[in-house]
Amino acid sequence: MAEESADFISDFIKEDLQKGRFDYVHTRFPPEPNGWLHIGHCKAFYIDFSMAERFKGKCNLRFDDTNPEKEDISYVEAIKRDVSWMGYDWEDREYYASDYYEYLYDLAVKIVKKGHAYVDDLTDEEMSEYRGTAAEDKNNITKTTESRQTPPGRNSPYRDRSVEENLDLLSRMRAGEFSDGARTLRAKIDMAHPNLLLRDPVMYRIRRETHYRTGNTWCIYPMYDFQHPLSDAKEGITHSLCSLEYEIHRPLYEWFINEAEVFPSRQIEFARLNMTHTVLSKRWLLKLVQENHVSGWDDPRMPTIAGLRRRGYTPEAIRSFVSQIGIAKTDSMVDIAFLEYCLREDLNKRSPRVMAVLKPLKLIIENWEAGAEELEAVNNPEDPEAGTRKLYFTRELWIEQDDFAEVPPPKYFRLFPGNSVRLRYGYIVTCTGFDKDAAGNITAVRCTYDPETKGGNAPDNRKVKGTIHWLSAADAIPIEVRIYDHLFAVERPMEAAPGKTFLDNLNPNSLELISHAYGEKSLAKAVPGDRFQFERLGYFAKDPDVSESGAPVFNKTVGLRDTWAKIGRKTAQ
Ligand code: ATP
Ligand code: MG
Repeated sequence: MAEESADFISDFIKEDLQKGRFDYVHTRFPPEPNGWLHIGHCKAFYIDFSMAERFKGKCNLRFDDTNPEKEDISYVEAIKRDVSWMGYDWEDREYYASDYYEYLYDLAVKIVKKGHAYVDDLTDEEMSEYRGTAAEDKNNITKTTESRQTPPGRNSPYRDRSVEENLDLLSRMRAGEFSDGARTLRAKIDMAHPNLLLRDPVMYRIRRETHYRTGNTWCIYPMYDFQHPLSDAKEGITHSLCSLEYEIHRPLYEWFINEAEVFPSRQIEFARLNMTHTVLSKRWLLKLVQENHVSGWDDPRMPTIAGLRRRGYTPEAIRSFVSQIGIAKTDSMVDIAFLEYCLREDLNKRSPRVMAVLKPLKLIIENWEAGAEELEAVNNPEDPEAGTRKLYFTRELWIEQDDFAEVPPPKYFRLFPGNSVRLRYGYIVTCTGFDKDAAGNITAVRCTYDPETKGGNAPDNRKVKGTIHWLSAADAIPIEVRIYDHLFAVERPMEAAPGKTFLDNLNPNSLELISHAYGEKSLAKAVPGDRFQFERLGYFAKDPDVSESGAPVFNKTVGLRDTWAKIGRKTAQ
């Protein structure tokens, strides 16, 4: 799976190996079990697993579970299912930061004993006031420290507590003697540091929350900046690969490794994946789920792995996408059309073709006398081994409403009175007329067929420009079809107008339900996840749902038209 082309992370790793900083490579993918994984995470674990593979190393799956209020075992299960489905294997290396609580606590004690951490009694508000312009910093978190003109903060009055007092207070914090938020353990770094994150960051906070794994064993929980480097060190992680927003945290990562005197894991950052017409943040995806803007984490419009799977995406298409977008050091926006292009490339090779009619209109073959005739149809022109199947041709067929026009617009090569079309795998038919109801709706189209044209071939080189798909009305089954458009109507949903939120950018037409479509009878045997090309319509995947009337449901995965080629592959790197 690893690409041969060089990237800056491989270069760093190579250099570390050459210089003897490490003599092996070990990475980790560290999701927090507070939501389902999205395609941004695919980029992250593709990098983690493929770097390990390229350098013949290993990659751990570690649940970064130190925020009890948001985490849950159901998320752990979803994450494991999705990483496996993507084709990655962490073997027996499944770890939990929550298993390291005792180890982390011991290292905190070690840092306190060195005089480099202290128990503080300031409240959250006081702490941010002492720290300085914390509120502004939240928006500027990825800016470089140099560019920031931040006045120095002030030392907490509790900063110079003795080691003995700090050790005593820390053990009493752990023992539950103080209320939530009453005290914190802080690293003693520099309250004047230009990087606000280094102004005595919190290592532990008191929080009486039941943790989904450790229950009520702990009432103090370690903060990310403290626990993450030390969890990496515990597992002997050589290269801790993460997204760019952690760049500004790197000095802290190194500070804790040095202070705790543990394995010198190294953090390397890469650009996050951002994609048009969607949001890639668990926080916002959770909001969509909780507020029922989508049917769940696996709604086929969601950029989650589970949503993409249900939509009909293949792991191969997603891997091809994440490997082609490259590994860069600057954030960029990738066009969602490129993901669809990767999908289409893959589905074209592997999807069996079937016929389905989404907006049915009856076609009556007036000179057909034969009952049902068996015709042969090719399952996949891209794959001769996929073989052929039987279709039945009968007097009454279903065609698409769009494939008939009473008055044809210019360049319309489908059915209209007097015109001939080829019925795919069937015969050439000529339109003789149509029926209308009292309201003026077309209820049926009438035609005659030419018995000499079986299979669609005209013996006399007659020019027939249009070929349309069809189903035998006697042999088709009812199906429900769900057609999707982008979840968000705009390219950058987070850039909402003043007074609006990203929710105002939701696309009100992202789901179109077609309850009364028809498909080939063989579709009755499809199981959830099976993928097809419905001829002329696009790629579709069987959904686990059944319709209200008991019909199988198919999700439109992607259309046939390659919008990416049209855009000219202007991939925004
Ligand atoms: P979110 O921002 O969606 O809440 P997160 O970063 O908090 O995600 P984690 O579970 O902590 O989610 O992420 C696990 C790993 O995935 C981290 O190393 C993080 O850097 C990486 N990651 C998350 N989102 C992206 C993305 N859009 N592109 C690349 N990597 C990502
Ligand atoms: Mg995170």
